[in-house]
Amino acid sequence: WDFRGSGLTNMHGSTGDIIFLGTTTPQLEEVFWTLTHDLKQDLGGSGSNLRTPSDCLGQSRCEYSCYDTQAICHFLTNEYQDELHRPAFPYKFKFKFDGCPNCCVASIARSDMSFIGTWKDRIRIDQDAVNKYVEKDPAYPANAGAHKGRDWGPFDIEKEVTDLCPTHCMKWDGKKLHIDDANCTRCMHCINVMPRALKIGKETGCSILVGAKAPILDGAQMGSLLVPFVPVNPDDDYEEITEVIENIWDWWMEEAKNRERLGELIKRQGFQ
Ligand code: SF4
Ligand code: SF4
Repeated sequence: WDFRGSGLTNMHGSTGDIIFLGTTTPQLEEVFWTLTHDLKQDLGGSGSNLRTPSDCLGQSRCEYSCYDTQAICHFLTNEYQDELHRPAFPYKFKFKFDGCPNCCVASIARSDMSFIGTWKDRIRIDQDAVNKYVEKDPAYPANAGAHKGRDWGPFDIEKEVTDLCPTHCMKWDGKKLHIDDANCTRCMHCINVMPRALKIGKETGCSILVGAKAPILDGAQMGSLLVPFVPVNPDDDYEEITEVIENIWDWWMEEAKNRERLGELIKRQGFQ
């Protein structure tokens, strides 16, 4: 490194495991070649490009997952190799994929474009299983048995589920659970508490949110909902999703100032 750059390195930084700082522009291609071909390393840049996309484990392990997060993450990583390796953007751009609104990779807060699994139809209710939770059947522990090391008292479906529904769209009549699905915001709370009784709907896809960032100066900005529902279809190479991505990139590349994230451009010009 003394030969190629300044010798400064930054270990386990926020943008990579080893970060090489301070080389000169004519040395860049030389450094790439040495690291990738001679030393066989995987190399990513922290420039104004598409950053390595990330996703939750999705359908490989999680029954809540509304689409195959790993498949689309892998596909788009291959599809956008050029955008990943050649810094042509105004600033960095991140994709993150969450299979459901539990948002395990925090895509809503940490990516310029966030893909969050959702469903169009109704939450599937197994009324017998709901009653098992209410009866405190040991095979039906609340929250799938999480936090069970302490005695939390008897399970109270009103206190722990229906009263905590953010849109108050649930009702327990003593025998049956009712959900007014038109007013459900898919927050996942009830499903997380009673996973054997409630399941995500069958007509699944994802919502696309844009503009989140976790900046140092300005304070955190959450993503704003751009597309409420889009099917996630590998058979047509995710055409409906790549169309949204590329339209957003066109607008951002045309309008953004140097080092202006998508969320900052939206703040400056508005949602168009
Ligand atoms: S975001 Fe949802 S689907 Fe993905 S791992 Fe978390 S709970 Fe499962
Ligand atoms: S997912 Fe959330 S909003 Fe929808 S019914 Fe359950 S608790 Fe209410």
